[in-house]
Amino acid sequence: MLGTMTIENKELEVHVVASGSKGNCTIIRSSHSAVIVDAGISCRRITNALQDLEIPKHMVEGIVITHEHSDHIAGVPQMIKQMGLPIITRPNTARRLMDKFGVSAECFQTLGTNEVTIGDMVLQPFSTSHDAVDPIGITCYKGQTKAALLTDTGMVSKEMLEHLHDTDLLVLEANYDEHMLLYGPYSPDLKRRVKSHAGHLCNMTAMKVLSALRRPKNMEVIFAHRSEQNNSLHLVEQLSERLLKWCKTQGQMGFTAYHGDPKEYTSIGISSHT
Ligand SMILES: [Zn+2]
Ligand SMILES: [Zn+2]
Repeated sequence: MLGTMTIENKELEVHVVASGSKGNCTIIRSSHSAVIVDAGISCRRITNALQDLEIPKHMVEGIVITHEHSDHIAGVPQMIKQMGLPIITRPNTARRLMDKFGVSAECFQTLGTNEVTIGDMVLQPFSTSHDAVDPIGITCYKGQTKAALLTDTGMVSKEMLEHLHDTDLLVLEANYDEHMLLYGPYSPDLKRRVKSHAGHLCNMTAMKVLSALRRPKNMEVIFAHRSEQNNSLHLVEQLSERLLKWCKTQGQMGFTAYHGDPKEYTSIGISSHT
């Protein structure tokens, strides 16, 4: 189950617990607090992950929900019931969750456009481009160390890019390969939806985003939300290796690539000063 890297003595740890259209969940933790980003898998799997990763429940400050699609919220009602954690999200997303799950407004802590302090971490939400009511990506700071998460976006705007510069660890969507989507099993409507600006990010755009970013020394990238029908690990690996070679020929900072998985944990520890 554990695909864990060395994470001792780091400012932040990022654990992609599950990634893909069957369910998404990431845990970000510092030495004193932790936050769950998306709960698209069962409460049992999330609590098991906390146990496996040795994150005490009392350290968890809340659950950030990026948007209301079921692969990001399936575990929410049970998580509220069992752990009583605040659901941290945009007001319109909160309303959708209240309607869908019949949970009360007190369960929510709403996010605007400003940064919020959660435990000893600072979270900055930013808007993404997806067919949900008010989808967000997030950046998370602990001191000088910065992690960011951007999945479920059909395109990456200049504003979004601004949020992603100088990120020590980036969880970035690489959802589909354009050819596999084109010749794959999806209906024409679904293909159009995935490819649209309100859909998902293709491998090539993910690489372009990475190449456009100001990358710090020792940047780590976790490619995430990979489609099972329209993509393969091999294709993402191939493209990221090609980009790395390009970075070298340009004398630019490279990065280390990892890959989110539907079932295995991908765990990375980061510190901006190492
Ligand atoms: Zn999703
Ligand atoms: Zn989505």
